[in-house]
Amino acid sequence: MRIIFSKAYFCLMIITDTHTHLYSEAFDEDRDIIIQRAMDAGVKRFFIPAIDSTYTDGMLRLEKNYPDHVYLMTGLHPTHVKKNYREELDHVERLLEQRNFYAIGEIGIDLYWDTSTLELQQKAFRHQINLAKHYELPIVIHCRESFDEIFEILEEEKGDELYGIFHCFTGTIEQAKQAISLNMKLGIGGVVTFKNGKIDTFLDQIDLEHIVLETDSPYLAPAPFRGKRNESSYIIYVLNRLSDIYKLPAEKIAEITTNNSRNVFKI
Ligand SMILES: [Zn+2]
Repeated sequence: MRIIFSKAYFCLMIITDTHTHLYSEAFDEDRDIIIQRAMDAGVKRFFIPAIDSTYTDGMLRLEKNYPDHVYLMTGLHPTHVKKNYREELDHVERLLEQRNFYAIGEIGIDLYWDTSTLELQQKAFRHQINLAKHYELPIVIHCRESFDEIFEILEEEKGDELYGIFHCFTGTIEQAKQAISLNMKLGIGGVVTFKNGKIDTFLDQIDLEHIVLETDSPYLAPAPFRGKRNESSYIIYVLNRLSDIYKLPAEKIAEITTNNSRNVFKI
């Protein structure tokens, strides 16, 4: 009896993937199948971070095909901040003038792939933070080997009007607390299932109201798919891991984190 009940309840569960690159070439062969599989698993809301102007058409197509489930962001990804970054930022600004988006993302600083563009990345990050403030939108932060540089800018720009998500959070508990103090939720994905992921060791000390779920698919697949192509339905593995960590039913984690995503994205 109990099993039947929990199964039925499972189907009613609404899970939100706050970060998925569903327009990626990695899904060109089977995008609709991937989306259906996610929906069958309870993932009904997909928030789509931008990378650069070359992906805009694909993102708009995705939204057209799944208008009740897909929510677009716009922004310039830090690893795509190159010499032409001003043109790319103009593209972002034009889009913002034309239509509605749910966040500015993903934006930030990445010093893993390229340190030579740091100064440009800092400029682009700051500029996009100001766009977010102007349009009253949340930001979605990409931070790789750059906590100090990110926090430096956030501390300068902080205020009630600056808020959002620290996507794929992989820092320490101190960094988690600092991010939260700056109005950021922590985006938790596949890393929480990794043996050496570290965040699983302190997450239970972070109130669930500060957590949102994400896959970052096609990247960062959770265990047992680590290293393979990730997809939104795998968010269940993240959900179950959080259920262990917080000692709460998965349904409850889904409900709380979906509510948190509604608070951030206002939908
Ligand atoms: Zn991403």
